[in-house]
Amino acid sequence: MRTIIAGNWKMNKTIAEAVDFANRLREKLAGKTGIPEVIVAPPFTALNPVSVVLRGSAVLVAAQNIHEADHGAFTGEVSALMAREAGCTYAIIGHSERRTLFGERDERINKKLSAALAAGLHPILCIGETLQEREENQTERVIERQLNEGLNNLGNDDIEKIIVAYEPVWAIGTGKTATPSQAQEVHRFIRGWLAKRCSGELSQQTVILYGGSVTPQNAGALMSQPDINGALIGGASLDVESFVRIIEYQFTQGV
Ligand code: PEP
Repeated sequence: MRTIIAGNWKMNKTIAEAVDFANRLREKLAGKTGIPEVIVAPPFTALNPVSVVLRGSAVLVAAQNIHEADHGAFTGEVSALMAREAGCTYAIIGHSERRTLFGERDERINKKLSAALAAGLHPILCIGETLQEREENQTERVIERQLNEGLNNLGNDDIEKIIVAYEPVWAIGTGKTATPSQAQEVHRFIRGWLAKRCSGELSQQTVILYGGSVTPQNAGALMSQPDINGALIGGASLDVESFVRIIEYQFTQGV
């Protein structure tokens, strides 16, 4: 099973800062073996410069969002093809900040997934419940709806290209991490959903990331859970030292 560590920089870093980070990350990871696959998601302005720095390294680049249309009168938006051309291999889709701050609903997220796949990007689909939904015991119902509607009409040949990121909204940027067993429970539910909707084989092969206040201190415990295949990291991915400590979590546990 693959393990992936992905950093979502959100609206942080100028081009100069992003390029400096990419150069340092490349240097620190050069020649390292036995580490997870690594992805960084810079803001749109830095996608191409960062891709150029990372070309030929093992680190791949993701867009933080894409528009569902190929082109047209959508002021301020960027298409999947444009992100691909800028050097992206992945696109984060349905991040909770897109859902809550920009009103993206499952139907739109479904269109964005199709657009990303059509452009040859691998989507990282983010799903997760709010605190209120968790407290009302609605977590599985919400996850099920986000999967049903987000992946609506997509066949197994598309779904096998998708990475799922479980990101409980109450844990994002709050310093409150789901406990390893809370996260594992939802990851197992997601894998079970994939087995029913797709196939046992696809479900076993799908990379399911955890996101929500992951740090070098808690990464090892989260990643030791059987259905957690890596992490999507916001805050702790902005500093190259802390990001690398998470990437090297199996060597630095307890350090
Ligand atoms: C995120 O934005 O995807 C995220 C998980 O953020 P943080 O690590 O800061 O909670």
